[in-house]
Amino acid sequence: MNPPSPSALVPRPSACPGLLRIVPARDGGLCRVKLPGGRLTAVQARAIAAASQRWASGVLELTNRANLQLRGVRPDGANALVAELQAAGLGPADPAADDVRNVLLSPAAGRDPQQRRDVRPLAAELLALLEGDRRLHGLSPKFALHLDGGEALARLDHAHDVWLSAHAEGYLLGLAGTPLDAPLGLIPTGRERATVAALLHRFIDLASAEQSRMRQLLAQLPVAELLAGLDLLPAPATPRSPAATARRLGSHPQRQAGLCWVGAQPALGRLPAMTLAAVAELAEHHGNGELHLTPWQGLLLPDVPVGTAPDLLAALGALDLVTDPAAPLARLIACTGSQGCAKGQADTKGDALRLAERLPAGVEVHLSGCPRSCALAGQAPHTLLAVAPGRYDLFVRDATQPGPGRRRATQLSLDEAAAWLARSPSDA
Ligand code: SF4
Repeated sequence: MNPPSPSALVPRPSACPGLLRIVPARDGGLCRVKLPGGRLTAVQARAIAAASQRWASGVLELTNRANLQLRGVRPDGANALVAELQAAGLGPADPAADDVRNVLLSPAAGRDPQQRRDVRPLAAELLALLEGDRRLHGLSPKFALHLDGGEALARLDHAHDVWLSAHAEGYLLGLAGTPLDAPLGLIPTGRERATVAALLHRFIDLASAEQSRMRQLLAQLPVAELLAGLDLLPAPATPRSPAATARRLGSHPQRQAGLCWVGAQPALGRLPAMTLAAVAELAEHHGNGELHLTPWQGLLLPDVPVGTAPDLLAALGALDLVTDPAAPLARLIACTGSQGCAKGQADTKGDALRLAERLPAGVEVHLSGCPRSCALAGQAPHTLLAVAPGRYDLFVRDATQPGPGRRRATQLSLDEAAAWLARSPSDA
């Protein structure tokens, strides 16, 4: 029997790609595979690589939500591609639940020496809630839950709709825009699933059709009204230990004695299918056969014996993956840009590669093809926003300003942008 048409499986209109909804882009169809907790087995990675080569362009992307997307899907290959990915166990239990599988956690959860709690069991519970409760399937494909176990390797600058942060007596709760040091309440241990379910149902009850994200509802509704009746205790003051995001690259000891994780990232989050297949082999040879995608468009190989980490780092380097956080390509992020996206005003990825050759030490830059800022939800220290091919406005992070920050220069060529950054690398 032929697999059903991808577009027929999820009737809810959305412009977001999914595994079952391949959306057109300038370079062909775009298929996004949502990975539970960012986890992928070596067998699944090989299946994605093979399907990408057979039915798409062989170009893969790692996303800032630790998902993976296949670019350039051919119209005549869409059904077969979806069938192969589903056969590899990459689809949702219920086709209607594909979009809502957004539970984000540290790629080092369960292994990070600094963690307060292993959030993986709760992540699995919440994922099952999202997949199993059909009313929740109406949430936006971008609506996300973030679980913070207190890990050093954690992305804390990304405003998700709901966040839970581990505490000795349960989980602290926050919503989009709630600062980490001012949570709204404490969910007692054992009440997490029921409280999150009640919160999500209240969101659906109260949000209008235009309020698909938490921040949109809270712009119109007092937070106390949303939380009324939920099983929350007063939030105790609990400072969060700082994050150490440089640990996304290179080798770092795990809490399990004698083991480490090894992190790497492809240039600008994009890699050939053959490279993913090669990384899968390395994960089986050196680690536990798993790849953990990171929210920095990279991946970790966990459970690597400390003694073999140098060999693995060398092998990843030979695949052109970046493993040094000081490398220019570790300090640049770029969206798809005009090569693959109709909204792109410039070839951001190509320009970022050119900028890497002259990026001043220590400077971090985000190149965005338009104001949607797909590659980075938070603010980068510097943002180059494309206004025309090869031309960018330059913004500097400013917490008092929305979006990319304060505009400091306009219509810069790449040479002019590099010169500006060299002159004022920490200008804020
Ligand atoms: S930021 Fe704009 S140009 Fe870049 S991928 Fe998103 S929509 Fe396309």
